[in-house]
Amino acid sequence: MSVVGFDFGNESCIVAVARQRGIDVVLNDESKRETPAIVCFGEKQRFIGTAGAASSMMNPKNSISQIKRLIGRQFSDPELQRDIKSLPFNVTEGPDGYPLIHARYLGEMRTFTPTQVLGMVFSNLKSIAEQNLKAAVVDCCIGIPVYFTELQRRAVLDAATIAGLHPLRLIHETTATALAYGIYKTDLPENDQLNVAFVDIGHASMQVCIAGFKKGQLKILAHSFDRSLGGRDFDEVLFHHFSAKFKEEYKIDVSQNARACLRLRAACEKLKKVLSANPEAPLNIECLMDEKDVRGFIKREEFEQISAPILQRVKAPLEKALADAGLAVGDVHMVEVVGSASRIPSILKILTEFFGKEPRRTMNASECVGRGCALQCAILSPTFKVREFQVNESFPFPISLSWKGSVPDAQNGEAEQEQLVFPKGNPIPSVKAVTFHKMSTFSVDVQYSDVSDLQAPAKISTYMIGPFPTLRSEKPKLKVKVRLNLHGIVSVESATLLEEEEVEVPVSKEPAKEDAKMETDEKPNDTSAPGANETDVNMQDAKGTAEAPGVENGVPQSGGKPVQMETDAKVEAPKKKVKKTNVPVAELVYGAMVSGDLQKAVEKEFEMALQDRVMEETKDKKNAVEAYVYDMRNKLCDKYHDFVTASDKEELMAKLQETEDWLYEDGEDETKGVYIAKLEELKKQGDPIEERYKEYSERGTIIDQLAYCI
Ligand code: ATP
Ligand code: MG
Repeated sequence: MSVVGFDFGNESCIVAVARQRGIDVVLNDESKRETPAIVCFGEKQRFIGTAGAASSMMNPKNSISQIKRLIGRQFSDPELQRDIKSLPFNVTEGPDGYPLIHARYLGEMRTFTPTQVLGMVFSNLKSIAEQNLKAAVVDCCIGIPVYFTELQRRAVLDAATIAGLHPLRLIHETTATALAYGIYKTDLPENDQLNVAFVDIGHASMQVCIAGFKKGQLKILAHSFDRSLGGRDFDEVLFHHFSAKFKEEYKIDVSQNARACLRLRAACEKLKKVLSANPEAPLNIECLMDEKDVRGFIKREEFEQISAPILQRVKAPLEKALADAGLAVGDVHMVEVVGSASRIPSILKILTEFFGKEPRRTMNASECVGRGCALQCAILSPTFKVREFQVNESFPFPISLSWKGSVPDAQNGEAEQEQLVFPKGNPIPSVKAVTFHKMSTFSVDVQYSDVSDLQAPAKISTYMIGPFPTLRSEKPKLKVKVRLNLHGIVSVESATLLEEEEVEVPVSKEPAKEDAKMETDEKPNDTSAPGANETDVNMQDAKGTAEAPGVENGVPQSGGKPVQMETDAKVEAPKKKVKKTNVPVAELVYGAMVSGDLQKAVEKEFEMALQDRVMEETKDKKNAVEAYVYDMRNKLCDKYHDFVTASDKEELMAKLQETEDWLYEDGEDETKGVYIAKLEELKKQGDPIEERYKEYSERGTIIDQLAYCI
């Protein structure tokens, strides 16, 4: 069983594996620790990762990057609209309202969903891990930004399935960092709590998390973020600065040329990095556009001035995290910065001023998320023995259920009812049971109770619950289980019909007027074991008969806390006398791939991967023909000289020359089979010579040995 962690960034990815002695970040084919998140579609194959980055300059329109920004978002999403403006490839709206990426592949224009492309990135990361471990990799943990919505989380899982991976957990990136920080700390307090703020500024976004550490555990106190504040925003500032400058000075408009844009952006990113270590930096690009070489220069102060609007936004997530954690600045004992864009000196200055202390960099800024993911995978994997360490995760968004209630509404007949099920900061994972009183099949929506932090529609999913038999006149009780799973995905898991015929004592005093009731039983919080964090909320929708705590005048208080708390034991007390029947639950899927499509995507990925492999093997076979030509030619003039007749040699030499010419002309682009046949053909003539030489050398050694014996 594999124990692997993947951190897929907007820009680059890290693969970390757990071994008995600890966590290792593994090297890719090019011996690099970071693998670019790029898929480049070619005429014959795809190039992914480092190979993709190498081809992207030559083929910008078919090089797909920034996939993390595109997955699980609707095309109309304003953030997506803003993002695609600076992307060199074409993105359009698909029939389902989600983006489609266009690329030329195998000689024709094709479309791919962002989930498919992420699947390709994952396949590449998977093969990096497999080559390193020399074993199949299936189980893993994948890091995701804390702000990922349900759809984005599902898209990551779908992409993992396409790549043949089975994530044991999608873990928030900052939580992975906190885990990688805390698990090795030997001086964590037994009773007090060490509060650490982690600030991760990556390529496209900023995330903050405040974690409280005690011996053997961490508890996430708050998560906050700015989804579009990262290193690339600084690149963009420099890009606009220099493109305006070059327009004026050199009369070139880079926005009209995809390759020039890409090159200028890459140069600006480099420039930004140079400015982190130097007070000023030059920018020179040869032949940027219209055969013009361009030269530029900028001082760090000017860079800071032109990026002021971005820098101003750094403080807001810090303030929010503190407020949500209920802490004052002085309560934060340490600040750790990670994410490579946090190397920008002006960002560090803001952090220092805000927290009143110098942020530390004890973590490896680019690798800590990947390492944390591998650690989490090791904790979850039964095959690995890891130091006792509990991760008490919290979910950043409040989730509620809404349904058509039976309390009359003047306009609509049936009032929409909403009940908070998982408040903001709810532990992950968690299960709550909601009890409804309904006569027939009904639907419930799972939704965000507050979308102010999110750029997503409130509705997450809809479930149909039923049909179920209604044998008696009063409304039957249906216990509906809602799960917030380890990945931070919410689902209605099951529904049970509870028939209380044999009950002698009424279960609870259900007041006459309202519609729903909730009972909660909070259990201890332990994310180290899936499913351990289960909480039951028992919410009853019993129109006309039952009471709804948290519901006033028949209208539920959205965002309110579960009011009535009862233990599971109390609910289960009349258990023996209650007949339980499973009721069908069907999810109406929004945006996520339905299983048939997913299966098709898996097959497509398999086909494309096969094509890549065939092309790689073709290259190998072609190289083998070329190598044979050079090798045989040398040997014919050297050690094979005495083992071949002059005419045979002449004939073979001519054949070798002919093959060499063919390799550079007609045979440059042949199939694998043709190269194999060509090599066979040459060997037919070459092998007898080689045989004679071998025989002679072996005989020679035997004679030598005999001579030695005598
Ligand atoms: P994300 O976390 O947004 O998904 P990511 O994990 O790929 O993306 P990181 O690798 O943490 O992001 O950071 C990449 C960003 O950091 C890039 O914008 C890069 O230009 C920037 N960066 C790297 N080194 C430096 C440096 N020395 N100074 C300034 N910025 C840097
Ligand atoms: Mg990152």
